[in-house]
Amino acid sequence: MSDGIIGLYYFDGEDGCDSCQSMTGYYDDRVDPPHENCDCEQEMIFLDEDSSEVSIEYKNIEKEDSDSSIETYYNNTFENHSETVTVKRGFEFSESVNTRIDLPSELEDLVDYDDETLDINESLEMTIEPGESVEINILVTMKLTIYRAEKWIEFEGYEIKVADLEGSVENPTQYETELY
Ligand SMILES: [Zn+2]
Repeated sequence: MSDGIIGLYYFDGEDGCDSCQSMTGYYDDRVDPPHENCDCEQEMIFLDEDSSEVSIEYKNIEKEDSDSSIETYYNNTFENHSETVTVKRGFEFSESVNTRIDLPSELEDLVDYDDETLDINESLEMTIEPGESVEINILVTMKLTIYRAEKWIEFEGYEIKVADLEGSVENPTQYETELY
């Protein structure tokens, strides 16, 4: 479910001035000292997420529908080079378009998303007049959804945000065939 290890910085201001003392604690990144000449130590520590001292919580889990995009799955032009003969051509195209999942594994476990397959099956008969050409496009609409969550841990009474998780899922929703 998780990477296992979390790195934290401990700012040790116990022997410092009031501001340093009040900053004493754990942070997910190295902190800027509260003033010049601060010589408080910052120590990096590593925590095992599965340890009983650590509890993990995911907050602000969000799902946002974003713009759809149209992708070309097939594009070709058939030309009739003859100047006198009308040509008939069969055209067949089959393909399955799957959901594209780009989620960090923790987010994948956390959110519900649709895993879909869109089957494209096109079969048509074209009549191409002398000297003419026919262009075929097969266009698939992909619906983009963004997922986000914050990962927090609680450790020794401190609540620390350790990661912003973000990922996306693209679902094929429909296709259309265009002939010119
Ligand atoms: Zn200090």
